[in-house]
Amino acid sequence: MAIWEPEYECMPREEIEQLQLERLQATLNRVYKNVTCYRNKFKELGIVPEDVRSLADLSKLPFTTKEDLRLNYPYGMFAVPLREVVRIHSSSGTTGKPTVVGYTRHDLKVWSSLVARFMTAAGVSHDDVVQIAFGYGMFTGAFGLHYGSELIGASVIPMGAGNTEKQIMIMQDYRSTALVSTPSYAITIAERMEKMGVDPKTLSLKVGLFGGEPWSEAMRKEIESKLCISATDNYGLSEVIGPGVAGECQVKSGMHISEDAFIAEIIDPETGETLPPGSVGELVLTSLTKEAFPMVRYRTRDITCLDYTPCQCGRTTVRMRKTMGRSDDMLIIKGVNVYPSQIEDVLIAIEGCQPHYQLVVDRKGSMDTLEVQIEVTENIFFDEMRMQKAFLDTVERRLDSVLGVGAVVKLVEPNSIPRAEGKASRVIDKRRI
Ligand SMILES: [Zn+2]
Repeated sequence: MAIWEPEYECMPREEIEQLQLERLQATLNRVYKNVTCYRNKFKELGIVPEDVRSLADLSKLPFTTKEDLRLNYPYGMFAVPLREVVRIHSSSGTTGKPTVVGYTRHDLKVWSSLVARFMTAAGVSHDDVVQIAFGYGMFTGAFGLHYGSELIGASVIPMGAGNTEKQIMIMQDYRSTALVSTPSYAITIAERMEKMGVDPKTLSLKVGLFGGEPWSEAMRKEIESKLCISATDNYGLSEVIGPGVAGECQVKSGMHISEDAFIAEIIDPETGETLPPGSVGELVLTSLTKEAFPMVRYRTRDITCLDYTPCQCGRTTVRMRKTMGRSDDMLIIKGVNVYPSQIEDVLIAIEGCQPHYQLVVDRKGSMDTLEVQIEVTENIFFDEMRMQKAFLDTVERRLDSVLGVGAVVKLVEPNSIPRAEGKASRVIDKRRI
């Protein structure tokens, strides 16, 4: 089986750690010098970059959170002047403003090769025709896989998300061999094929590269049998680089993390304490090569565990298990990150809406649905159906533009939403993922 960059992917553990330490020190110097937020955090703890003499010293360093990115919106966390930035992406924020991330030319080069690594590990080569069914735009997914495919020398079809029948037509006519999408969209495609009477065995499709949302082994089996492909998982997040942090090889027993580019730690999300190898906890990532947007101990909020045992594929890098949940309240709906606080902000901003609300997330077939239930109050009471309809339309439109994902808004009886003691649980997630 091919390995894209064996010099890094198969490096002996001691050498990986030595390289990580050198790159970590360089990263710390860079952020201390160029990013006020990091300098202030280090100063508060009385730390200078020179204090980090071993990888174990990493645990002395402060965490970086989504809140830090929000406070430094848009460019405050950049470690280079804007003129050196050649690409800007963003991801959804917990409140209102998105998170802005940037790449230098060198960052894009590294990003492409990190994606090429996991695509190669999944079995993609220059002989493949890669159909990308992620949305192009501000999110990192489509562009990440696009540039990785081109680097490998595969033929890229930048189809974008949606338009399922056309996806299937292109798959048939252009003889796509690899599909890039969210796992739930892969199921949508499979189900539509069934309805259209298209036999997946008549297609050229052989591998799927799926990411952007958590999914189970059961879902993997379903995709593999419905599309007659090998379905692989990969992991990444815009704040850290986008796709390319980790991906599965064909052994499919965890996603190999590119350890020359990232240091992975597992912490206790409550105490922030670093946990020993093999523990389940929150993944924390430190970037080692990034120029424009370095991240020191970024709290991903994703729950997983790390496996340092050797993999049959020959790669020596640590593997992370499929993510098992979140340590915050973020939801992933149709592959889009949604925070309940974003919805609350929208409701509060609409006059007369100091709301008791509840979110109901479900999956109809393979499509995620989001219903926002709002309790009727004196302010939100309409004798006229017309006014009620106008109100619901306004809320739905605002939610759509803020979240980037459609929601159905429903008015419910006063006091019908249960009141929680302490922190209200606003979300009912009925999906079985
Ligand atoms: Zn492997």
